Amino acid sequence: MKSFPMFIDVVGQTIVVVGGEEQAAQKARLALKTEAEIVFVADALEPEIAELVRRGRARHAPTSALAEEFRAARFAFIANGCAGADAAAAAVAKSMGVLVNVVDRPELCDLTTPAIVDRDPVVVAIGTEGTAPVLARQVKTRIEEMLEPRLGELAALAGRLRTAVAQRVPRARHRAFWRWVFSGAPRKLFVGGREADAAADIKSAIEAGGAEIGPRDGFVSLVGAGPGASDLMTLRGVQRLQEADVIFYDRLVDPGVLELARRDAERVYVGKAVNGTAWPQDRINGVIAAAARSGKRVVRLKSGDPLVFGRAAEEAEALEAAGVAWEIVPGVTSALAAAAQAKIFPTERGVAQRLTLATGQSAAGAPPPDFSRLAAPGSTSAFYMCVANAGAMSCAMMAAGAPNDLAISIVENTETARARRLDTTLEQLETTIRREQVKNPAILFVKWPQRSTRKRRTDHRTAIPAVA
Ligand code: SAH
Repeated sequence: MKSFPMFIDVVGQTIVVVGGEEQAAQKARLALKTEAEIVFVADALEPEIAELVRRGRARHAPTSALAEEFRAARFAFIANGCAGADAAAAAVAKSMGVLVNVVDRPELCDLTTPAIVDRDPVVVAIGTEGTAPVLARQVKTRIEEMLEPRLGELAALAGRLRTAVAQRVPRARHRAFWRWVFSGAPRKLFVGGREADAAADIKSAIEAGGAEIGPRDGFVSLVGAGPGASDLMTLRGVQRLQEADVIFYDRLVDPGVLELARRDAERVYVGKAVNGTAWPQDRINGVIAAAARSGKRVVRLKSGDPLVFGRAAEEAEALEAAGVAWEIVPGVTSALAAAAQAKIFPTERGVAQRLTLATGQSAAGAPPPDFSRLAAPGSTSAFYMCVANAGAMSCAMMAAGAPNDLAISIVENTETARARRLDTTLEQLETTIRREQVKNPAILFVKWPQRSTRKRRTDHRTAIPAVA
């Protein structure tokens, strides 16, 4: 970051605006939202500014008083509409140590003004350090949609009740209390126009010492993080991440997903360690249950969907045994994300009526999966965890009568920058994997042809590079 983001208290302070024409009026609009005193330093004032002065919202000072006004300024906007006059005023400000924003002269600016979403006292400021104002406006639009117009008033009410909460609600329950205010019934009531009911609910919860709201015990959410790209997470998953006190994640979870969590949430990596050894499942189960028992909101992030080859059943069983409440938040499973990105149609009317999600590898000690049973005409198999075992898989399928030229698509690293699709045949599968150095994570798609000789579609145009 080249600029430090912060909010400056301007109550009772003076903001100087140098200029009295339209540019100055524009610059003053943001300042006028604050409680600062605004001084326009100019020899003449355009009508909007003149009216502000007439109504007592702003003061007017002549240009001869520039240095004197700067002396009392918190900071200044320079907007004369004349490059020479602006540079001269900026030089005076600099010599006096006053921070300035000069219109259209980024090289002279100490301060830049962000795009803002105003739900006073909730203010979201968006800056791109001047690189992409259009993007800042897009972000602003999305945040405008996210934050209900009444949210600021709810925040203001919360502000007025802070002291009462601090006095009546035990410290350990504060976070849960405010979580309830801003994501539970009070927010819904308030933004739905029932402010009085919301306020009454909050006040009676304060009276009760915060006892009735939400579970005081910890809670575990097994959250599907999707296959990579963070925008494939569900809104519910993002919400759980933002509420989490601690997040357990592993190798296949994209760092962009963790960015969605609260900055002060604890993050615990439970994947393969540097020396290549993975955390044993028992240990993972143990630490998750222990965190929840200590009263924490826990998110266990799983790649894709937690229910698909995610060992969710084992983790859930351990949580049940430990008496911890839990839930599952679904995610986009990698086979479907891979199919979407590679434009493969796993079900298709008249072509494929069944989709099987299969694993290419069994648990240690268990017999290998019986691939021959999947060879059902008119179905699609999506194989997870299959790269290492691909040779054995193709042999078993050929032995079960699958044609050597059966089309196979491999989608590697879907929804990451390294995504690629490779099209090959059953006979060439192992060779292709070796030659192209395909590595996990990858999904392998087999579309078992109908017995009738319906034409199969093969040439979809894909957004990711197809090789082989
Ligand atoms: N629960 C996950 C699957 C976990 S098993 C899900 O629903 O997707 C791990 C396997 O998932 C990997 O071996 C690979 O087959 C698949 N996988 C995970 N992320 C992937 C990705 N970005 N691209 C392709 N396959 C992926």
